[in-house]
Amino acid sequence: MFTEQNRTVVVVGAQWGDEGKGKLVDVLAERADWVVRYQGGANAGHTVDLGKHSFVLHQIPSGILHEGVRCVIGNGVVLDPDTLFTEIDGLVADGFDVEGRLYVSDRAHLVLPYHKLLDSESSHTQSIGTTGRGIGPAYEDKVARRGIRVLDLRHGDRLKVQVELGVEHANAQLASFGSTKRADVQQTLDLLTRLAERLLPLAEDVGVLVHRAVKSGAAILLEGAQGSLLDVDHGTYPFVTSSSTTSGGAVIGVGLAPTAIDAVLGVVKAYTTRVGSGPLPTEMDEAMAERVRSLGNEFGATTGRPRRCGWFDAIVVRYASRINGLTDLAVTKLDVLDTLDRIAICTGYEYEGDLHTEFPGDVATLDKIAPRYEWLDGWQRSTADARRLDDLPAEARRYLDRMQELLETPVTYVSVGTRRDQIIGL
Ligand code: GDP
Repeated sequence: MFTEQNRTVVVVGAQWGDEGKGKLVDVLAERADWVVRYQGGANAGHTVDLGKHSFVLHQIPSGILHEGVRCVIGNGVVLDPDTLFTEIDGLVADGFDVEGRLYVSDRAHLVLPYHKLLDSESSHTQSIGTTGRGIGPAYEDKVARRGIRVLDLRHGDRLKVQVELGVEHANAQLASFGSTKRADVQQTLDLLTRLAERLLPLAEDVGVLVHRAVKSGAAILLEGAQGSLLDVDHGTYPFVTSSSTTSGGAVIGVGLAPTAIDAVLGVVKAYTTRVGSGPLPTEMDEAMAERVRSLGNEFGATTGRPRRCGWFDAIVVRYASRINGLTDLAVTKLDVLDTLDRIAICTGYEYEGDLHTEFPGDVATLDKIAPRYEWLDGWQRSTADARRLDDLPAEARRYLDRMQELLETPVTYVSVGTRRDQIIGL
């Protein structure tokens, strides 16, 4: 992805998240100077398999596993300091050098204990199927202008006023949920005072840092979390996350100009999954879903929840390609389909007698559509050792070719296993 022309590259999930972005980012981070997270919270759960053991990073960009790569948590992220420090300590204990190359935006909003309390006590967030880590409530506070930003920790008086606002609102909410639990101003302030000591040394105006890096010609990877169909504006609302997961969110979430982006890599699974409630037009019948779930180990990295499984939906990914401006695709988990005798691709939605090829905005429509499938022969051979396109069985090549045709976006990488080396296209 990084060439002389492509210096600033965004990686986004082009389905409902869990596409295997972690592996792609990990592989690309080796060639990057900077890796930046721009949205979401400590629910990302990127899994990186290092051979002897695997790492799940929820808050810190996985680029941290590469020596010398500078990592940034942008203003668009809601930062969970507990998770941040647990991950830093874990990395240091494992011999990774973190100091001096991890920067946190001083404008990033904090996820506080009362945000988690609101998540766990609210039946609404549970019905949406969130990870319950306080991320939604922290974004709500951000937009309602009562959030606590990292830079507020520098100003005791201002901090107190903001905390009072936040706690008052949280307690009113808790009361309205019928909960007897309450947040406390002093406890929150004490916690923030303790956190400030460790957090403020990491705080920077990261927009300036990354802007200077762009100017100097550095290779910059902007790493998205979740997926495009979970974007708060473009996803299957209300079954979405609270942030802008698409490439537009990348520039807002770090403070770069849109013109700084050179390329956008969309990561897609060779099939489709989604966690929790909401539309999944190509959902498989339970027997097939169970088979794919077990072959692909489709259980949430953060929550362990079983993921719902569906066939590859070209309507979804074509939509994602359009709204993100995808220049390249990475198809992951091709190996998961190795034993299937036939494989479907959804090429259209049948609705009220018409065939639709654009993704609708209304989830009620999605509930009523019938996917139109094209069936392709499976390859029934292992692809795990393929390192070049030529190593793939003809049927697998055909499957990928058909995807490219339907998506009008070139497939640049194909991932055929969890390990870093199991990839075609590097
Ligand atoms: P992310 O949130 O998009 O980074 O996705 P996750 O990391 O939560 O989920 C991806 C899971 O799939 C991880 O357990 C990866 O090790 C695994 N994975 C990634 N690429 C492949 C692949 O090509 N084949 C298989 N079998 N597993 C993969």
